[in-house]
Amino acid sequence: MAKKGQKRNFTFKTPKGAKYEILFRKPDKRHFDDADGICTSPKEENPKIHINPKLTDQSALNTAVHEIAHAFFWNKTEQEVTKFANTVSRFLYSYCGWRKNENECAKPAKSKRDTKRSGK
Ligand SMILES: [Zn+2]
Repeated sequence: MAKKGQKRNFTFKTPKGAKYEILFRKPDKRHFDDADGICTSPKEENPKIHINPKLTDQSALNTAVHEIAHAFFWNKTEQEVTKFANTVSRFLYSYCGWRKNENECAKPAKSKRDTKRSGK
């Protein structure tokens, strides 16, 4: 499926040994309503994070922090993870002015979305 010369997907390992892969793919609407990102259980054989590729910079940053936080801190509540991710992304994006580079992860954003989600 991956084109020649394309970057490999980003992977990381949690301290508990779960090896995650991050895919820029819209989470399945049938299962996750309208979530911008999802994180599967670290107990699954090949745990994954999906991030909607069509998010604005700010939403993409927030979603990435949010989903990675779930992977590392699976037992934290949705509210704890949301507060954490909102704080990190507000600091980096709004206060420090961090922005995405122009690369294949930085496709133009279609619409501004808020950070509400129903997937984990
Ligand atoms: Zn969540």
